[in-house]
Parts: sequence; C-alpha cells; structure tokens
Amino acid sequence: MSNLTTRRNFLKSAGLMTAAATLLSPSQLFSQRSSQKRENSGKLTLKWMPFDALLKHPFTIANFTRTTTPIVLTEISWNGYTGYGEASMPPYLGETQASVMEFLKKIDLSKFKDPFQIQDILTYVESIAINNTAAKAAVDIALHDLVGKIMGQPWWKIWGFNSQTTPDTSFTVGLDTEEVVKQKTREAAPYNIIKVKLGRDDATDRMMINTIRSVTDKTIYIDANQGWRDKHYALDMIHWLNTKGVTMIEQPMPKLWLDETAWLTERSPLPVIADEACQRLTDITKLKGAYHGINIKLMKCTGMREAREMITYARSLNMRLMIGCMTETSCAISAAAQLATETEWADLDGNLLISNDIFDGVKIVDGKITLNDKPGIGVVKL
Ligand code: MG
Repeated sequence: MSNLTTRRNFLKSAGLMTAAATLLSPSQLFSQRSSQKRENSGKLTLKWMPFDALLKHPFTIANFTRTTTPIVLTEISWNGYTGYGEASMPPYLGETQASVMEFLKKIDLSKFKDPFQIQDILTYVESIAINNTAAKAAVDIALHDLVGKIMGQPWWKIWGFNSQTTPDTSFTVGLDTEEVVKQKTREAAPYNIIKVKLGRDDATDRMMINTIRSVTDKTIYIDANQGWRDKHYALDMIHWLNTKGVTMIEQPMPKLWLDETAWLTERSPLPVIADEACQRLTDITKLKGAYHGINIKLMKCTGMREAREMITYARSLNMRLMIGCMTETSCAISAAAQLATETEWADLDGNLLISNDIFDGVKIVDGKITLNDKPGIGVVKL
C-alpha cells in the first residue's frame, strides 16, 4: 500500500469511528441535537449582578432605619434554560453585595454534568465557606428555578403540595409617627393581616397599636424583633395585645434568652414564634419548648432545599410554622411562596415594599398568596 492509500484508509476509518460513536451514544446524540437548537451546550454557568431595591417607605424596626436593600441577582444556565435567583441582605445579617459576589466567585459548577444533581451541588456550595446564607440561597433558588423550568413544572407541584392551602400574607407596618402609621395602615387595604414592628419602648408600642386600631379592625401579628427586655413586661404586653385583636407574637425577647422565652411561651395566651433565634435546620432542636413555632426565611436558611427540610423537622416536633422574607424582589418571594402551602402563617410582602421590582411572579389575591402554574419558582423577568 502506498502512503497515500494508508492515509486515505486511516482518515476513512477515523471518520467512521466518530460516526459510530455518535450513533451508539444516545446521550451524545441528544446533547448534539439540543446544542444545535440551543446556543448553550451542557455546561452549567452561574452569573450574578448587584441590584439595589428601592423602598417605597423608609423602613424602621427596633434599632435602625433604611431606604434601600442591597441585593445580588443570580442566573444559572444550562442547555438554553435559565433559572433566576437572588440574595437579599438586610445590613444586620452581616452579608454585603461584595461578600456575596466574593462567595459566588468561588463556585465552580463545571464539575457537575447537569443541574438535576441538586443535592450534590448544594452540598458542595454549603462546603465552600460557613455562613454566607443569602449568597447560598441565591444559588439554591436559581438552581431550583432552572430544574423546574427544564421539567416544565412549578416546585409546589413537583413537591406535591396543594396550592389551595396557602395562607394569607401579612403586610408590614414599621415604627413611625402616628400620621405615617395611619397612612401605611390605609395602604394595607388589599391585605387581611397587618404585621406590626414593636419593641422600641412602651409608649411607642401602645401608640402603634392604638393608631392602627383607629383605622382598622384587621388581624394583627406582632414582631418585637428582640425588643422586649423583661419577661414580666413581655407577658403583660402580650395580655394587652391579646385584647387588641393580635393573634401571634414573633421574637419577643433577645434570641439568646431561651429560658426566659420558655417561661413566657408557657404563660402566653398567643403563639410565640422564633425568627432571629431560628436561622437554620440545626437551630430547631434547642427551640422546642421555648417557642411555639419558627419563622423560616430563605435568606437565613440557604434556600428552598433546607427550608423544606426545616418544615418537615419542625412539624415532627409539633412546632408551628411561619414563612417570612427580607425586602426582596418577586424572585425570592415567589421561591418562598412555593413552600407557603405548608405553613400556618406567611409574611411574604417584601416585593410589595419596593418600587423597582424586576420580576413578575406569585401574586397576592384578596390577601391570599396565590401560586401560578409557571415552571420553576413561577417568575418571568421584566
Ligand atoms: Mg421577624
């Protein structure tokens, strides 16, 4: 055989080998076909962008006031699908846009072949550094949105939840002057429950309740944000609030006061719920007995995966459940809403408090959280 013939035969057989390999591998075929249709081949990519949420009203809780909330938006893409996520960072939790972006930079999703490995991917993200819970939530939410979109189903359906069992959401009225509180209470007209931030001092707390009661007789939830510093005072306040149509008390005393809170909870005519005291799954065991229930927030607990585990575990301890939020866009709110079917109380008003939302998502209809059939977390980017 001449050199030329050898070369021709080599090229021919090499070509056939390639063709045979393609024909014999359905997954390769699928991947080639989909990569022809979709520009992004089977590589998982993570992108992020800082975003400042503008508050409609300056927001005051027990010890500070703010007018914007720093957010980092995330996107995870695979095979032409894109899932959206978000980290929202109220300053008191210690994360910043810079710290979130620094954390996201460390993530290498290229080692995972597809987004369906949610457990492996999120366990890896968890292992990168301690804390950074909002940054981790931004990955968790985008990944869930992506997988739901590929499957063509919303998460409440994938999990088998009944969309009709979502609670009403409360709408938060922060500490303010009598006139502003009246105005904010009137703005809360579309919602059936008002959540009031108390805990500054006795006169202000009573002014807040009396002012709201001068405008409406709607149900009130109280969030003292750790502001009451005496268990006897807290119990007196709860008894007074019980006569004012209040039905639930969130974080009455400092989060480390477990014995004092247990004393209060035992005597309280109203359910006492842990918020600051309950960040993650591993916090729940020690709270049993000290609180009637817990307030789960995606930004505290690293996202939808752990939030669902917290629901299952707290329920097994006969603890009551609430789902809450930070000031967020409709992205993180819609992600939390996928789990709201399983909770007794919901405070998912964060998107209603900002003026520059960039997502269209889950809605409040007649005061009730109303899930949609859109896949993933149920949002469209505006
Ligand atoms: Mg709270």
